[in-house]
Amino acid sequence: MGRTKILIAGAGISGLAIAIMLERLPEDKKVDYLILERSVMMSAMGSAVSLHTAVIPLLKQLGVWPEIERISKPMSHFCIKRADGSELGTVDYAYGDSEYSYYGIVMARPQLHSILMGHVPSSKIILGKRIVATSQDDTGVSCHCADSTIYHADILIGADGAYSAVRQALYKDLWAHGNLPRQDISPIKLDQVVVVGITEPLSPTDYPMLKEDVCQFRIVLGGHDRPYTMWMVPLTNNRLGWSIGGRSNASDGSSFWSESQEEATDSYAYAHDSSRNADWSEAETESIDEICSQMRSKRNPFGFGTYGDLIDKTPRHMISKVMFEEKGFRTWYGGRTVLIGDACHKSVPFGGCGECNV
Ligand SMILES: Cc1cc2nc3c(=O)[nH]c(=O)nc-3n(C[C@H](O)[C@H](O)[C@H](O)COP(=O)(O)OP(=O)(O)OC[C@H]3O[C@@H](n4cnc5c(N)ncnc54)[C@H](O)[C@@H]3O)c2cc1C
Repeated sequence: MGRTKILIAGAGISGLAIAIMLERLPEDKKVDYLILERSVMMSAMGSAVSLHTAVIPLLKQLGVWPEIERISKPMSHFCIKRADGSELGTVDYAYGDSEYSYYGIVMARPQLHSILMGHVPSSKIILGKRIVATSQDDTGVSCHCADSTIYHADILIGADGAYSAVRQALYKDLWAHGNLPRQDISPIKLDQVVVVGITEPLSPTDYPMLKEDVCQFRIVLGGHDRPYTMWMVPLTNNRLGWSIGGRSNASDGSSFWSESQEEATDSYAYAHDSSRNADWSEAETESIDEICSQMRSKRNPFGFGTYGDLIDKTPRHMISKVMFEEKGFRTWYGGRTVLIGDACHKSVPFGGCGECNV
């Protein structure tokens, strides 16, 4: 019998992490695998991501911990303020050190992604392969790509994010056979729109938080009729990761970002259609400008000028806009297909916690 063949859909954090696990299998248990990634080029989008302390032993097992430790900062707590500067509370994150012997860590997502990429042979990642359909039977599983190519394997791992094409194909099949719970076909909740970025290197004299060896996540919960959140966190190389945004459909019916309403409704309606989504993007510069201009004059209650100062210190290509989805699916596998990461349990990555989904 030949080696087991595995296809991985998506070269995000989940897809790369599972590929590294397969790379680490002992010689007599090796499998053949390929990652099919829709992007033609992997770009450096995103802001800060935090990893829960419980993930660190896994990073050690994968052999990536020394590199990740170098690009990350340990995190002791979340400090939350109102827009007027009054304290709302703190969330202890230092318990990880006593419970697990590690602090939770925070780092720039583009750096984490490129470290993981470095541990997967480039011959195993095929770019420009957008999966549009999948099929499976007793003999194997097939992935059909937008460029009309077809890949066959024994097992398919859907690591293709919140709008997973693999999940949609699997669910269609399970639903047709009466094997899918109704809650798995309800739409993804999609009501948060944010702009995220990573600043250029800043002066620690102007931004003393950059000197923190064990850092804090600073969070602002602001606005009354138009609630918004802002967070900022120090990263290595004297940079700050930040996020500014809010609900796209506030409780009084007004949007945090007025022009986003149509888009939010649109994305919601198409939450199960892989051809339409609201992924991380730097392309919609007008939308980014609009959100930034609404927020730029607000004073930062943590004392570093206005949000505009933060935005102005961020190179344009390091700013992206995203609408956050939130949904946990009950069905994570079926036949020869299994889902991982955001494809099956997507939660709002508030505080850069998206990575903890992996
Ligand atoms: C560009 C980007 C920037 C992000 N930045 C942040 C951040 O700053 N902070 C934070 O907390 N979280 C961020 N996230 C989210 C965070 O990475 C995820 O929540 C978490 O890592 C789970 O990742 P995942 O691999 O399951 O899904 P994702 O990170 O969404 O990766 C899915 C991958 O699958 C690919 N893909 C999608 N559809 C198809 C298809 N049909 N065929 C083939 N490939 C496909 C995508 O291009 C992507 O590479 C970001 C995600 C992306 C994609």
